[in-house]
Amino acid sequence: MNQSPDVLVIGGGITGCGIARELAYRGVSVLVIDKGDLGSGTSSVSSKLVHGGIRYLEHGAFRLVADACRERYWLTQTAPHLVRPQSFVLPVYQDDLRPKWMIRLGIMAYEWASLGYRIGQNYMISVADALRQVPLLNPTGLVGAAHYVDGIMDDARLVIEVAMHAVTLGAEFYPYTPMIDCQRHTSGYRVTVKRLDETVCEVTPRFVVNASGPWVDGVARQITGEVSGLLRPTKGVHLVTRPLGTDTGLLMNGRDGRVMFMVPKPGYCVVGTTDTPVETSIDDRSVTPREVAYLIEAVHRTLSIRLDACDIYGVFAGFRPLAQSSATTPAAISRDQSIVSHGPYAASIFGGKYTTFRLMAEDMAKHVMGRLGRRFDGSTRNLLIPPSMAPSLTEWDAFTDYTITHEFATQLDDVMRRRSHLWFSPDNGNGVLPIVADTMAGRLGWTAIERDRQVSAYRLAQAKMQQVIGLGRAEATV
Ligand SMILES: Cc1cc2nc3c(=O)[nH]c(=O)nc-3n(C[C@H](O)[C@H](O)[C@H](O)COP(=O)(O)OP(=O)(O)OC[C@H]3O[C@@H](n4cnc5c(N)ncnc54)[C@H](O)[C@@H]3O)c2cc1C
Repeated sequence: MNQSPDVLVIGGGITGCGIARELAYRGVSVLVIDKGDLGSGTSSVSSKLVHGGIRYLEHGAFRLVADACRERYWLTQTAPHLVRPQSFVLPVYQDDLRPKWMIRLGIMAYEWASLGYRIGQNYMISVADALRQVPLLNPTGLVGAAHYVDGIMDDARLVIEVAMHAVTLGAEFYPYTPMIDCQRHTSGYRVTVKRLDETVCEVTPRFVVNASGPWVDGVARQITGEVSGLLRPTKGVHLVTRPLGTDTGLLMNGRDGRVMFMVPKPGYCVVGTTDTPVETSIDDRSVTPREVAYLIEAVHRTLSIRLDACDIYGVFAGFRPLAQSSATTPAAISRDQSIVSHGPYAASIFGGKYTTFRLMAEDMAKHVMGRLGRRFDGSTRNLLIPPSMAPSLTEWDAFTDYTITHEFATQLDDVMRRRSHLWFSPDNGNGVLPIVADTMAGRLGWTAIERDRQVSAYRLAQAKMQQVIGLGRAEATV
């Protein structure tokens, strides 16, 4: 561990990993710590969209949408193995809050926002075309539809691959290494961290970046010693279902008119998201039966199907690290990014979108390098994100071994939930769990007790999730 890096980044989500890549690319020595796995915060529980954000146009966020459309384009070019264009259908029903003329305007504005950086065409389609593309679409009251193209991604993998790219450029990463203390000293900071093996180390960076997502306020308080109130996070919940009979994505309305997505992925489908105030601790990502019911009802209202117990593979939740705001509803809170300085040698970054992570990282790198008196030049816009060389997802022992030796995996969850998508499979990965656990135990020197503890924790989380799904199904009314 480089104990005197130029920059210490707290948070190994997409923002922190992106910042590390920007800085390392420009020759700045950088060390990233995360209290959990890389991407284990918000960056593995997104809606998996690399999108301009058509929804934000109705809040007048044209600049944000245009920036996001450009970043969407660059990501499809630089990481085509993880980010690809995806067609979506936006159905318009007779009693929708947003009539057809408004959708038409929105689609035109989306075209303008992506001018020069389009990844596909956006246009209105007939009811017949909508039903051809999404055969299970509920036809009752359907008066028209729009077709548009956005990006979809593998969010958890993109974090890892951006981090691995940063490693090849010279950055260092320490997952499962929380910051436990932070003191200002004459030429920077003295930061105490706790390693996975319980050893405590001191790092003395010249600059500290707080990229801790929904935890930004807590970490800012550790840095400044003062209460900060930078964030107004909101909660988002998704269902993971069996494939829903179409390769086309879909926009759906919740019972309150909130826009949600149905995102087809290989072998499963992601449905969400809710957007509600946070009523628990940021560390509590449990899902309520009510939230499950809300999502099931939206599927039942939009598609001519009923979701049975075996159709819902899972559910997951996360917190959006949005900037403090006086907006009256969670959906109206700005998705703009913010950088806030804490004196000359520390700053927090939050807001923004996964899609705009490179732009956020670039802004932060500019800020940091300015403070360090270093020249900022060049751009990572065209820099390819090298694909992982992990063996095929059928050779689970070889795959697991690779993620341990090359991709920072140290816990069962790291492999089951983020290096692979086993958690999203019909049996939540139970079939291969013993192979992954045995490989990890052998490679990492776990005792039999430790192996069984990790397997039991995984199975317990699965059982709790299935229980909430059952309660949610019982509560769904449509
Ligand atoms: C439900 C939902 C759906 C979304 N869908 C999309 C989408 O489809 N497309 C899109 O573009 N955006 C989407 N977003 C937004 C996007 O996911 C987030 O903006 C982005 O992932 C934030 O990344 P981050 O790195 O800032 O935060 P995080 O990914 O949360 O990373 C912060 C990291 O900091 C670490 N940390 C916290 N405290 C400490 C500490 N004391 N010491 C060390 N480490 C610490 C955490 O463990 C965590 O890993 C969605 C967000 C949510 C919640």
